[in-house]
Amino acid sequence: MEKEALDDLSQVIPSDRMYLDLTERYCYSYDASFGEYLPEIVIQPKNAEEISEVVKLANTHKIPVYPRGSGTSLSGGPLPVKGGMVLDMTLLRDKLIIDRENMLAIVSPGVITANIHIKAEEAGLFYPPDPSSSNVATIGGNLLENSSGPKGLKYGTTKEYVIGLEVVTPTGEIIRTGGKTVKNVTGYDLTRLIVGSEGTLGIVTEAIIRLIPKPQSKHTFVAHFNHLIDSGHAITSILSSGILPSAMELMDNACIRAVESYRPSGLPLQAEAILIIEIDGHPLAIEEEINKCADLCRAEGASYVKIAETEEERQTIWSARKSVSPAITQMGPTKISEDATVPRSQIPAMMERLNQIREKYGLNLVVFGHAGDGNLHPNIITDKRNITEMKKVELAVSEIFEAAIELGGTLSGEHGIGTLKSPYMEMELGITGVNMMKKIKKAWDPNNIMNPGKVFPDKGQTRIVLVT
Ligand SMILES: Cc1cc2nc3c(=O)[nH]c(=O)nc-3n(C[C@H](O)[C@H](O)[C@H](O)COP(=O)(O)OP(=O)(O)OC[C@H]3O[C@@H](n4cnc5c(N)ncnc54)[C@H](O)[C@@H]3O)c2cc1C
Repeated sequence: MEKEALDDLSQVIPSDRMYLDLTERYCYSYDASFGEYLPEIVIQPKNAEEISEVVKLANTHKIPVYPRGSGTSLSGGPLPVKGGMVLDMTLLRDKLIIDRENMLAIVSPGVITANIHIKAEEAGLFYPPDPSSSNVATIGGNLLENSSGPKGLKYGTTKEYVIGLEVVTPTGEIIRTGGKTVKNVTGYDLTRLIVGSEGTLGIVTEAIIRLIPKPQSKHTFVAHFNHLIDSGHAITSILSSGILPSAMELMDNACIRAVESYRPSGLPLQAEAILIIEIDGHPLAIEEEINKCADLCRAEGASYVKIAETEEERQTIWSARKSVSPAITQMGPTKISEDATVPRSQIPAMMERLNQIREKYGLNLVVFGHAGDGNLHPNIITDKRNITEMKKVELAVSEIFEAAIELGGTLSGEHGIGTLKSPYMEMELGITGVNMMKKIKKAWDPNNIMNPGKVFPDKGQTRIVLVT
């Protein structure tokens, strides 16, 4: 970094929150995805005013700026792919105010999401978006990736809960969007534009999020299927019965085997699929609904159904699903985690396509995910040092995206585009659609300093390249 730029930044940020040593910068060169890029400098701002000054200087000196929460992105979102500066947002965590009367929370972006869950529940309220990473990830990262989790089926994704933002624009102005009201149709909906923009249109420094009443109770059951197709029919059958579960999670056979070898708990190794289904609401209503859902699974061919009778049994059912990430991480040093999503009626067809891809390339491909909303997580477990296998992975990943799009789906249901899916944007949106997005980016960020190298493909890039 040029001395002049460094001198200017030193006027705004004290030296104990500015990192230049290689050892200090190194851990910012990773996220939970595949890439590795070293930033030239890391800055830990404490408030919107500091960020505004830093961003103005970044425009003057044309320094790329990479906002970063906890770095758990699975799509390369916070990686400094063009060098420049990482803005570590985790020190902006002073505000977590629950406004019970207006049923909302005002939060700083560096607050860990699980803390919002806890505080909301203490007030008898509920913040539904529940990414599996919520004990680690920041609400800022959740907002910018538009994250969700099992509860997305019934309660929707993060964007459904964000009603106001404070944002430092890519040119350094501080603006407010939306507000505290549930209804707000004043002008363009900039809140929705920023949510899910992956840090390419500005830096969120405060958010107002909507809370809802906490469901009174919940019921959970697990169903085993010897045929994957039957689990797909069971999902459709339940969703068309008038019951809307709060979660419907699927694990395929490869996933069942991975979890069983990681932490043996008697999972059925011969089953092609396991479904975990949860219903929440009034205790009397959910009692009837859970039994009806279990019957529907049996009618569609479930070989075994177990309704949890106690909280301990409920936790045991969920522990299999929660073991998936650690279990598959043990299977190899490199995990390529995708989240291609299809209309839920196409889940059996997508599972079939994933099986074909697994066999064609002979890869360790494990599938689990939020079956109720069509958001599957095909994970390829590999070793990035194995160049021959990585070449196959590149082709397999491309075919996964092609399959999702052909089935009427999307590249990403919740992990975002980042660097890993950008080559495929035109496949889903067409060249005109991508160009409209590029015009918005250009209008907001004329110097292209805000998280450059994300979302949009580099010129001529049509396919992911994992090894060169
Ligand atoms: C084990 C594991 C499980 C996961 N499970 C889920 C899941 O169930 N559902 C799901 O949706 N995701 C999941 N993820 C992905 C990841 O946790 C989410 O994308 C999460 O929202 C990222 O939050 P973060 O704080 O780590 O953000 P980061 O990874 O640091 O950043 C994410 C993006 O947001 C931008 N950003 C961060 N903060 C700001 C800010 N204040 N202003 C502007 N831009 C900002 C970054 O530039 C980047 O583009 C999982 C990841 C792991 C490792």
